[in-house]
Amino acid sequence: MNSVQQTLSIIKPDAVERNLVEKIKNIFKKNKLIIKESKKIHITKDEAAEFYKVHQSKPFYNDLCAYLSSGPIVVMILEGVNAVFENRKLMGATNPKDADENTIRKLYGISIDKNSVHGSDSGENAKKEIEFFFKN
Ligand code: UDP
Ligand code: MG
Repeated sequence: MNSVQQTLSIIKPDAVERNLVEKIKNIFKKNKLIIKESKKIHITKDEAAEFYKVHQSKPFYNDLCAYLSSGPIVVMILEGVNAVFENRKLMGATNPKDADENTIRKLYGISIDKNSVHGSDSGENAKKEIEFFFKN
């Protein structure tokens, strides 16, 4: 089914720091994902821990939360046909080394932890993640 949906995207500290925000936003726009909302914020480690709660049992959880709260990030609501899937496709694989050519992580990712962007992985999680950053 091709339906219009929303997803949450985050430009992570490594990409904000390297002034890649406009370049990444242009990739979304060129690929028919409309940026409905966008804000630059700096979250606390506790907020990062809450956001990434699904990963709390993973060995990388503590570093991940420290990293996401280490500097400014840009959080966005993207909207378009199959936005969750389309955004994941534009992002590329979690590890930039494994990402396809011309994906955001292949172009800009530094390493598996500093991989420049986050994107919701399902419609249900997209709703929760949008709520987390934009509805309070
Ligand atoms: N991550 C990491 N080490 C790993 C796996 C993941 O540092 O071995 C980080 C990475 O930044 C990733 C995030 O944890 O983006 C969330 O992991 P997930 O498996 O959900 O990957 P994603 O959905 O971001 O592709
Ligand atoms: Mg994920």
